[in-house]
Amino acid sequence: MATVFFKLLLRRFSHLVFDGGGGNSEKKPAMKLKDLFLGLCIAALLVSEIFLFVANQQKNAALDRMNSAQHDADQARADLAQLKAATDAQASDDTRLRAENLSLTRRLSTLQTQITTFSNANVVLSLQLGNAQQTAQQQQEQMQQIQYDAEQAQATAERNACMTNLREIDAAKGEWSLETGKTTGATPTEQDLLPYLTGGIFPVCPSGGIYTIGAIGTPPSCSIHGPLVAQ
Ligand SMILES: [Zn+2]
Repeated sequence: MATVFFKLLLRRFSHLVFDGGGGNSEKKPAMKLKDLFLGLCIAALLVSEIFLFVANQQKNAALDRMNSAQHDADQARADLAQLKAATDAQASDDTRLRAENLSLTRRLSTLQTQITTFSNANVVLSLQLGNAQQTAQQQQEQMQQIQYDAEQAQATAERNACMTNLREIDAAKGEWSLETGKTTGATPTEQDLLPYLTGGIFPVCPSGGIYTIGAIGTPPSCSIHGPLVAQ
């Protein structure tokens, strides 16, 4: 459009200035003035067209820039909203994690207290167990001592009873020797001694020993408790 006007303008001016009426010198001055005025009008129109075109281009460019800026602003607004949402979510997470952390810390503290309590109780129980074991050991030792003492007492009692039996046998040998006139070297049998023994019964060692009566002049003896010893 502008190019067409421009070409038209150039043709008109060339006609007016260079021809200067060469071929059209017969025309009247009024006619030339009219052409000049028309050319100026066309030139003014062309200049206006150019200004309008440039302004339109600038307006479009500005509009584009504004749209771009608007788009950038929208994008920035969206980014800001997203960031704010993310920040809010992060804050929420932080709050939740802080609460969880606090809860876990309290739980840990409680567990540590329980562990300490159990540990102390364990120490007390260990001490009690140690004492109980020591007491049981002492009781065991006392019981063994009592049993040993009882066995010793029984052995002593049996030995004393055996010696009493041997003394009775020795006395019977003496009486048998007096009544029969047997002297040293003679050896009586159990049957020989029965009349001189209590109840007419030959005594028996309480420990199961076997008696040897022995000759006159020799003390009787037990296979377990040995010979009769003088008191
Ligand atoms: Zn005996």
